[in-house]
Amino acid sequence: MEDTASAAQNPPAKCPVCRTIVDADDVFCSNCGYPRKGTEREQRMFLLKRNTQKNKLARANKKIWQATNTLFIEGALIAILAIGNCFLSFTTMRGDYPLMICQLPVAISFVVLGFWCKKRPLPAVLCGFSFYLLLQILSAVISPQTITNWIVLKLFIIGFLINGIVAAVEAEKVKKELNV
Ligand SMILES: [Zn+2]
Repeated sequence: MEDTASAAQNPPAKCPVCRTIVDADDVFCSNCGYPRKGTEREQRMFLLKRNTQKNKLARANKKIWQATNTLFIEGALIAILAIGNCFLSFTTMRGDYPLMICQLPVAISFVVLGFWCKKRPLPAVLCGFSFYLLLQILSAVISPQTITNWIVLKLFIIGFLINGIVAAVEAEKVKKELNV
């Protein structure tokens, strides 16, 4: 009976930070940890820390976005090479069919990894990076003279993907802390 009375006096409240419904008596929000009954300073410090983490997350997401685009661009570039090869085969009969047959699935794989990145950035960029390195090693073994071709582009791709991996790790950590 007393419980019902106190529930009526203290109806559930909304956390001002994350809008989760909390018990009126809760000292901390059960979702985001906001110190509901804390001093004004404690609440300010909490909001400040949360803001810093949100900014960190935004920066990490930007790098993940760049890595995602890197995967899409790599897929598109390889697809263009494959189409070029196909075109050469028809016009000059000098196109490289086996190469083209390898290039198409590789191009599609990069595009699929790009889409996966939107859902699970960390495993997707890790796979994309390993796959890219493997291809570079393979092409270096098959034709060593091509290592330095497009070297600036290759370094950019590697740089964006490594940044993406670091950012995805950071984003997962911050998301856990923010409980989002
Ligand atoms: Zn909250």
